[in-house]
This record gives sequence, C-alpha cells and structure tokens, in this order.
Amino acid sequence: MQSAYRVQVALSEESLRNEEDLVWDSGRQETDQSIHVEYRGPLLESRQRYYWRVRVWDESGQEADWSDTAFWEMGLLHPRDWKARMIQPDLVEDREKSEPCPMLRREFELKDGIEKARLYITSHGLYEAWINGKHVGDELFTPGWTTYQKCLQYQTYDVTGLLGKGTNAIGVILGDGWYRGYISYACERNVYGTKLALYMQLNITYQDGTTDSVVSDDTWKASTGPILEADMFNGEVYDARLEEAGWNEPGFDDTGWSNVIPVEFSPRILAAPLGVPVRRIEEIGPKEIIKTPAGEIVVDLGQNMTGWIRLKARGPRGTAITMQHGEVLDQKGNFYNKNLRMAKATDRFILKGDDEEEIFEPRFTFHGFRYVKLEGYPGEVTTDCLKGIVVHSDLDRTGEFSCSNPLVNQLSRNIVWSQKGNFLDVPTDCPQRDERMGWTGDLQVFASTACQNMNVASFMTRWLRDLKNDQRKDGAVPNVIPDAFTDREDFARRLLKRRNWRECTNAIGAIFALFVIDSSAGWGDAAILVPWSLYQHYGDVRILESQYESMRALFRFYEKRARRFGSFLLVNPLKWFRKETWEHLRYYYTAGLHFGDWLAPGDGLVKSVLKSKWYIPTVYFALDALILHKASVALGRDDNAAYYEAMYNKIKAAFQYFLVKQSGRIWPNRQSAYTLALMADLLPGEVKEKSAGILAGMVRKGDYRIGTGFLGASHICHVLCENGYANVAYELLMNEDYQWLYQVKMGATTIWEHWDAIRENGSFQSARMLSFNHYAFGAIGAWLFQDVAGINVDEDEPGYKHILIRPIPGGGLTHAKASYDSIHGLIESEWSLTDDNRLVLRVQVPVNTRARVTIPADYRTRITEGGNSVELTDGAVDIGSGSYVFNCFKREGGNESRT
Ligand code: BGC
Repeated sequence: MQSAYRVQVALSEESLRNEEDLVWDSGRQETDQSIHVEYRGPLLESRQRYYWRVRVWDESGQEADWSDTAFWEMGLLHPRDWKARMIQPDLVEDREKSEPCPMLRREFELKDGIEKARLYITSHGLYEAWINGKHVGDELFTPGWTTYQKCLQYQTYDVTGLLGKGTNAIGVILGDGWYRGYISYACERNVYGTKLALYMQLNITYQDGTTDSVVSDDTWKASTGPILEADMFNGEVYDARLEEAGWNEPGFDDTGWSNVIPVEFSPRILAAPLGVPVRRIEEIGPKEIIKTPAGEIVVDLGQNMTGWIRLKARGPRGTAITMQHGEVLDQKGNFYNKNLRMAKATDRFILKGDDEEEIFEPRFTFHGFRYVKLEGYPGEVTTDCLKGIVVHSDLDRTGEFSCSNPLVNQLSRNIVWSQKGNFLDVPTDCPQRDERMGWTGDLQVFASTACQNMNVASFMTRWLRDLKNDQRKDGAVPNVIPDAFTDREDFARRLLKRRNWRECTNAIGAIFALFVIDSSAGWGDAAILVPWSLYQHYGDVRILESQYESMRALFRFYEKRARRFGSFLLVNPLKWFRKETWEHLRYYYTAGLHFGDWLAPGDGLVKSVLKSKWYIPTVYFALDALILHKASVALGRDDNAAYYEAMYNKIKAAFQYFLVKQSGRIWPNRQSAYTLALMADLLPGEVKEKSAGILAGMVRKGDYRIGTGFLGASHICHVLCENGYANVAYELLMNEDYQWLYQVKMGATTIWEHWDAIRENGSFQSARMLSFNHYAFGAIGAWLFQDVAGINVDEDEPGYKHILIRPIPGGGLTHAKASYDSIHGLIESEWSLTDDNRLVLRVQVPVNTRARVTIPADYRTRITEGGNSVELTDGAVDIGSGSYVFNCFKREGGNESRT
C-alpha cells in the first residue's frame, strides 16, 4: 500500500534533477491516493512544456526512487494566441455532389537554429498536412467529429524534425468528411457547411530565443489533384494521372493555382482534443479469393472490420479498378451490399500506368466490411494484391476474457471487434450503412463492456462533452451525439426537397428519430448512466463534476414530462377513483414515445414503441434518480442526494403501484419488464424473489430463447445470477439456436444488430435494418467479465481501489479467466474445475488496492490458500495486493444454483 506521495513539476528535466526552480512541489502528502492527483501549482501557460516526476512511500514508510521523468505540453489556451485566418480555397464547386479534394500550399523561409516547432491545425472538413513532402503525424480523420458550430478541435504536432533552414513548404489536402459529406441516417450532405476551409498556425522557436510563425492567410494557393471524390459513405475516387509531383515541397510552380479567401471565424470555439486519435491499427491479409456463382471476384478477409483496403496494382495508364465493400455474401454465395442502403462504399482507383507497382489507400473515407468485390483489376487477383487496414481510435486494450468454451471465446472476440469497428472518433451504432451515428442508447448499454475492453476514459469524456454541448435547453438529450441536425427546421426543409422514393423512406426514419421520438428512455439516459460507468471504472470524480449539471438537467426534463397530464389513460380505469392513483401518477413517466426494448424478437418498430410506454420510461426515470443520488453523495452534495433518494423512492412506489402485483407479476408480462425492474431494484423485498422466479420460469418455458432487445439483453444474465438463477443465465448464454452463440455458430465475426440477422435457412432480415457490426448486444461482455470470471468494482471505492472478486462457475465451463489492466494495475481472476471436484481460483490484486474474494465453494470448511486454510466471513475473504491461489471443493457436477 502507498502511504504517501510527492510530485514535482519543472520547466526542464535538469531542474527536476537538481530540484531547482521547481514550478510545483506537492511536498510529501500522506495519502494512499495514487490516481487523479491534480496539479496545484501556479497557472499553466500556453505552449509551455512541463516535466514531472513522482515518488511514493509504502505502508512501512519505505521510500521508493523517483519515477522516470514524464512531460505534458499545453496547447493554445487563449483565443489571442491564434493569429491565423480561416481560409477557403477559391474553387468553383457544385455543392450538391462530391467535388475533388482541395489542396492548399504555401512556402516560407526559416532561419538557422530551429529549436522547436509546433503545428496547430484544424479545418472545416478533414485535413491531411504535409511539410516538405513529409506527412505530418499519423492521425486520421482529423480534426474529428464534433458539433462544429459549437466546438472545433485542433491538433498539435511536433514538427521540429520536418523543418530546416531556408525555404520550406507546407501542403494540406482537405476532405468533405462529416462536415459536408454525406452523413447520418438521413444521408444528407452539407450538414455543417458547404465550403471546406483550413485554419493553422506554425510556431517556431529558435535556439537564440527568437520566434517565428506561419499561419493560414491570404498568401496561400489552392488547387485540386488526384482525389476526385472522397465521401465517408460513398468512398473515394483517386485518379493517379492527376498527381502533381512535389506539390507539398519547396520549389513547386503554383502559378496556375487559385487564391484562397479568408472568412470570418472565431477561435473561441477551438478546443484541444480530449479524446484519442484515430490511427491505422492493424493489417489483415486476405483469407480467400472467391469466384462467386455470379462470376464476381470477391476477396474474403475472414473478419468483419472497419477501415479500408490497401491495394497494389500494375497496369496500363487509365486502368480503373473498383472495389465495393460488403459484410456478408448472400444465400447463393454472391456479393451482397443492399444492407448498406444508400452508402455506396465503393473505392475507385485509376492507374497512371508507371512500370512500377502503384499502391492505393483512401484516407477520407472508411468502410465496414469483410468482403471486397474487385472489378477491373489488371491481371490475376492474388492474396498479395491487397490488405485490410483496420482503422479506429487508438485505445489501449485493457480487458481479456477466455474460457473453456470456444464459441464463447469467439463471442468475446466478436464483442471486441464490434467495439474496434465502432469506436472511430465517436461511438457509433454501425460502421457500414448510411447511418454511423453516435446513438446514445447503444453506448448506454455497452458502456461498461467498453470500459473493460479498452481504456476509453478520455474517448468517452470527450463524447460526454459533446453530449453536454448538444443537450437542449429543456434538458432533453438528442438520440444521437453529435446531434447532426441541431437546426431541426432546416433539416425538415431539406427533407421536403427529396424526390425519389428510396431517399424518402430513408428520411421517414430520420423524421421519426428526430421529431417523433425525443430523448428516448434508455437512450437519453446515457447522459446520466455513462458518466457513472466511467466513474466506476476509472474512479475519476471529475467526470461527475463536469457532467453533473447535464445529468440534473435531463432529470428535470423527465420530472416535467412525468407530470404531464395524460398518463392516467394508461392506467386501469378502476384505479382512477382512488386518491393515491393521482399522487403516484406524478412519478409514473409515460409521456412521449420511446424506442422501447429495441429489437426484441418479434417486435417491429411500432410494437416496440407502443409496448414500452408502460414501464421503460419509469424504470429509467427511477434508475436515473438512484444514480443521481449516488453521484450527489460522491460529490458531497448532500442536499441534492436526499432529494434524488426521495425521488427514487417515489418513482419506485409508483412503479409498484401501477405495474407490480403481490404475486410477483409485472405488467407487461415480458422478460425485459422483469429484468429491468430487478436491475433498477424496483420491487419490494417479498415480491422480488417471486418476480425473479417468474422471469426464470419464462426463460425456461421459452426454451432459453432470449425475449429481450437492446435494453433487457444487457442485464438479463446478471439479474438472473444475482437472484440465484445462474444456471438459467448460463442456459441463455449457451443456447446455440438463437441469440449470442447462434450468431457465432453462423460464422459471425462481429456482433449483429438483430439476434437472427441471418436466419437458419440463410435468408436475411430486411435490408433496411441489417447491420452485422452493431455492439449493443455485445453488452453481454460485462457479464462474462463480472459474473463468469468474477472481476467487479466496488461502487463505494471506484476505480478498482477495492475489488470484488466473485466468480460464478457454471454452464459446463471447466475454466474461465479475465484479466483487466485497471487504472491501479493488473487484476486477474481465473478459475478451473478439476476432475476430482476441486475448484482452483487464482487471483491477482494490484499494488495499493484491496479485494474481497467470494469463494464459490460448496464446502465451507475445506478452503485453502497457499496450503493454509482460509476462514470465510459471509462467504468471502479480504486480501491485499499480491497473487493468490485458492483451493476448494465443489459438489459433483459443478456449480448449480436454484432450478
Ligand atoms: C440504430 C440503432 C439505434 C436505433 C434507435 C437504429 O437505426 O442503428 O442502433 O439505437 O436506430 O432505435
């Protein structure tokens, strides 16, 4: 355990070493806090680099060495630090279609003795920057997707090594990206603006202390080049014959190029990125080249992924190669892409015809795909011709799960691949069709799993900042963040202009999501539940601090809505004449329309919306009150804490009054109603057990076929385990005829949007909603981790400062293991059953944390650790950091709970 720390900050490594001119010295702080220690020195300055180190003392007062030195550097903190202008290329463009990507350039002179140089850069649209012919950085899709009217991110690059004495050149290519390319379920262009633009500032410091700067201004030149089209949905068209060698190097003749136009722009909306850059993360070689029955050449990468293809080709000048991307083959084995709806997802490369091999890779588009249909390839397509380039936010992998069942292991891999595929700058529903939006509900259910798989602390913090920015004045939270259509009227006008039927059907869905269903229950609640998940996993109370007002605003919105007149219509008329009915009605939230338990088997859109009204909004209303109560306690806001607790109790009472019977029956009699009521702890003590029994019975009666959609599926297994029905939960998991393992059995390599996107006979669900890469049902990952392998965070000591290890063996598994690289260090829990009915549980607890281990033993007396017998208190033992091996005995047949 840590007993104290000391942090020092200085302007150079040397002054740290000599402990001279320190900017800040925390002094020795007697505390075991080892994470989220805040800098408390003098105000930090723009562009300054700060070096720091830390030393700790252990529980016996022993001092450790100083850590290695690390640093951070400040961005441009004040609008006045920016001297640049926002510049638009002066090119003639048709705003109704994808236009060639503009290229901008300028040359400049520098003195000798450059000490450091930083490029601060952003754009309307995407940018790719080059200095003296060298690509700046390795980040993709910069500056990222935010609600651009309110917040525009800029990136900072250390470009010292790219510059030299004399003439230098900078070149920037702009792409339509989210700014003006096709985006959203409405498949609209020009959502944020019609003109691309660049805003950048290069700051140079010389060794003699003098400085220089180069900014975007009217001295720049612009033209277009080989990228004829670049669109997120439709793909990229690249004509190598139009390449202009040396355009981003000094000495290039740009006299024929156009001018640029400086436009109004306020640097006040600029923000340094909170999130994680998107990068090329891995490469996948083709598994097979297929000639389909229809005669197509299709390359199978063996993995549904997000990114693009890097293609090599050699052929005559003007040869055009087309690549279409798809996730599955159809029933006959032919290429299939109808489920992409209006997204063309097609890249086209035109060769310049060098004798040399030409290599193509798009940069301003991405596709969700496993199969690529190639047309026009010169020569034979072999596995050497192409590679899948996997692209996503560069998040560190933190969690791994494995067990003795290969199908479950594949499921676990599929969950991670769906996270990779959809965590591309913002968390999206799917990466392939004309949608790819930050659906709040999908993330709400998946947040905990996401936190386990990868370090998403800053990625989600950034998204929550966007959520806060886009939250409406009345507290409502748009169903997607970033909220692409902040100007709803303008959006409605655009839709009215649509002429063809296909576009119109697409628009109807959009209208529904934007105008009819607002701040849907289970979706908007991401504003409250996602910060709570982050706080639990990373222990940083500042996420609650910064989101607190946003959380409260949503709750106020619900409170108002709940009081709306009309809920009584959903209540049994016999109850209208009781006084308490009218008291409870104020806390029974049924107003508005909601997506419901989305994609529950057998529910279409209408059914899902209508059936949900009775219970789902009230469940989330209660859950939000409970979480706000806990968040208020964590923040020391006791007055509010009491208020939310009281609200929780009232909403709970209303839920019971209207929907719960003494027999344990809940209305409506659906798996998700029981699951969600149990999850939010809405049932009175004596009824809870009965309701859990009814749920278990329902699942059993339904042949262990899941009956829930997005909302219920993320909790059902946990709720069953918690109430003593681990065997039923395991039956659900292990069922290969439907749900999770059915998909795996059918060859899925990512999580599908529908439980049975491909039916047993090979036919598909309707192409209108048929994504094969949708992480929502992957929320089962949290259960594998927490209940099967047993790693849980203790709510009262978040960030895994206190860990609850409580595996629940079952399902015929003989072995399961999870490891999690928490913010405090590596946690592991691994159990195996031996032939002689012994259970061995290995546990790893990181330094400066403690754990309570609940041993899943059937015989209390014969438990040992490292050869010594272990005394349990309430079935558990408390341990400190270190590695442990517990041995105990299980009854024949493994662990069976209630039947
Ligand atoms: C998306 C979902 C989303 C839903 C709203 C769909 O089109 O793909 O994942 O949550 O709409 O119900």
